[in-house]
Amino acid sequence: MKQHDVLEILGQQIKPGENATLSFNVAKLHTQNSIDVPIIIERSKKKGPTVLITAGIHGDEVNGVEIVRQIISKEINKPKCGTIICIPVINVFGFIRMDRVFPDGRDLNRVFPGTASGSLASRVAHLLITEIVPHADLIIDFHTGGADRFNAAQIRIVKNQPDLYKLATVFGAPFIFYSKNLNKSFRNTCYKMGIPMLLFEGGKSFNIDTTITNSGVNGVKRVLNHFNMLRTKFKVSKPKRDVVKILDSKWIRANYSGMFKPAVKLNAFVTKGTVLGNITDPYGSFNHFVKAPIDGFIFNVNESPIIYQGDAIFHISTKIK
Ligand SMILES: [Zn+2]
Repeated sequence: MKQHDVLEILGQQIKPGENATLSFNVAKLHTQNSIDVPIIIERSKKKGPTVLITAGIHGDEVNGVEIVRQIISKEINKPKCGTIICIPVINVFGFIRMDRVFPDGRDLNRVFPGTASGSLASRVAHLLITEIVPHADLIIDFHTGGADRFNAAQIRIVKNQPDLYKLATVFGAPFIFYSKNLNKSFRNTCYKMGIPMLLFEGGKSFNIDTTITNSGVNGVKRVLNHFNMLRTKFKVSKPKRDVVKILDSKWIRANYSGMFKPAVKLNAFVTKGTVLGNITDPYGSFNHFVKAPIDGFIFNVNESPIIYQGDAIFHISTKIK
């Protein structure tokens, strides 16, 4: 554990018992307005771990931002010991433009670790990796599903990492989904630096869902409690059911283009042949039922009312533990 006496971030010193709001100074908008990427730091006088909580790497993933916002506004981020650093919106540029990517079209999560002289996204990645990440003992990074594909609340980790698996279980989201680290992603860079990350996926873009938000906030409380960092005024709830570990999965794709209505509830376990939804055309001439090809948990549902043949419409587990 990195028991910081004095924490120095972006040239500013923050002592135990102090708090600070700092900002990355990366680039201005084209209108010359300055852009702040607020970094909210809370330190206890008591020594303890440093937890970094981030969201908004993708500017359209508002639900993650809402989770970190609640953690700050409820003062869950004022630790009993150690330090909590919150960055609710890493990609402020995308968030302003209501866009997943940076103004130059780059996906921040594919340019890590970044460079000081690279593209705008690359510079933001570089600052995050050099100034903030090295101080952290654990990172919790919040994401949502892409477009209309609604993710069940899940923690994504790589296989064969017992410590990470333990923390993912403590977090208590309904699912742990084993997924490989993508090249040049935030998670992969932190992994190479030896800093564990719990990557949360839940909900879909441009959406705030109460169940997903609660799952994220409760998970953070459980993890902080595990490190004895959560103040006693907060109650820690047990997960409603045992965490399901998804070792492997597949996407069920649409066999027809048309109007799509899912019938299955997210998080449900379905047996082979269960009707998951139906696809119709606007003229009342056909109605195709989509059936489960195997037994499994449905942990992503495409909520788009219009789909094309080949679109991913359900994510189903193929191997669980
Ligand atoms: Zn994302």
